[in-house]
Amino acid sequence: MSPALKHRTLPEKIIRLKLGPQSYDAILGYNNTGNIGNYLRSTTGNENVFILTDTKVGPHYAARLKEALKKDNFRDIHVEEVPEGEESKSIETWIHLLERVHEFSSGKEEKVLIVNLGGGVIGDLGGFVAATYTRGCHYVQMPTTLLAVVDSALGGKVGVDFAGVKNLIGSFYQPRLVFVDLSLLKTLDAREVRTGLAEVVKYGVIKDSLLFDFMENNHDKLLNLEPEATYHVAAKSLKIKAATVQQDLLDQKDIRIILNYGHTIGHAIEAASGYSYSHGEAISIGMVAENSIACEMGLLNKEKAARIRNLLKAIGLPVVSRKYEVSRILQFLSRDKKFTKRSNRFVLPADIGSVQIVSGVDQKLIEKAVREVMGIEG
Ligand code: NAD
Repeated sequence: MSPALKHRTLPEKIIRLKLGPQSYDAILGYNNTGNIGNYLRSTTGNENVFILTDTKVGPHYAARLKEALKKDNFRDIHVEEVPEGEESKSIETWIHLLERVHEFSSGKEEKVLIVNLGGGVIGDLGGFVAATYTRGCHYVQMPTTLLAVVDSALGGKVGVDFAGVKNLIGSFYQPRLVFVDLSLLKTLDAREVRTGLAEVVKYGVIKDSLLFDFMENNHDKLLNLEPEATYHVAAKSLKIKAATVQQDLLDQKDIRIILNYGHTIGHAIEAASGYSYSHGEAISIGMVAENSIACEMGLLNKEKAARIRNLLKAIGLPVVSRKYEVSRILQFLSRDKKFTKRSNRFVLPADIGSVQIVSGVDQKLIEKAVREVMGIEG
């Protein structure tokens, strides 16, 4: 980090998720870890803090977080690291963590607070531990990947993978606070930054053409994680996510589903690749494929589809997939929760900034889009 950025701050922005008694704030700032204690005091009241992190994030930031909490006189702070990576989102790690949280809590009068310091894996895993220990204890998300900042930290979907299926076991359980210090993203690999930006492109297409325009004009700054540009897109994304989640907390009203744009075909490609594509890479290809269905159906014009493709390309995301057996992709697709025996549902763009939920898309169109995105003729 350059010396200029080391002491750089940006005014904190508060985005409120209005969920009645389960309401909470997302605090967005830059170099603001020092303020977290104040927010925890006013939102949770817990004294004993169990910081969950992974082996990549912990060495960078756990000490800084611990110092910030000590400064605000938190009594007992424990740091627990799990191996980095999706493999940690398992039943075994969940049980291990329940044991560790239980040990930490034993003999203490007050309930424990879990602070998830990490990417989506740590957020989902620690959130599920919090949801299940003593039928629910307080937890806070402190996301450290761009994907977790703009997407997974907010909304309370928590859980672990099981039997080879992602997120098969889990629940909805809301955090008390989401606390974002964007300066922590500076140690991210470029690939992780691109993965997060794929989700930001998604927000632009589903809800906000100005956000999309901003990305077209500033993708270089975003790839370099320049503070103002990153702050701008993170704030916009958090607002869209909050507005969407608060209207459809349990994903039952055909509102939260719009966040799945690009994810239906994207997930199938991600699975077919054996997860060698990162989530954002697969979603990028998924968006291109789903746009092609939208164009074929006369919903989206080709120029707009080309703009989306060009932005994804400019970010360095793949817009063409490696070749997999089409039947394999279709098999993965049929397992999507939006597919039933008789029908399917897609979130398709009608413009940059608006989407429609379309049921019963012709199977031939889906196949055509999948072939096209893999560069297979006919
Ligand atoms: P991740 O948590 O595995 O993080 C990716 C990598 O970046 C890991 O190696 C991690 O150690 C490293 N890392 C994290 N922060 C870092 C930092 N600041 N500096 C250096 N390295 C850092 O993956 P992710 O992409 O953040 O999240 C993916 C997970 O999120 C998946 O399990 C997915 O299912 C889940 N997810 C959940 C939701 C939800 O709503 N709950 C939404 C989207 C995705």
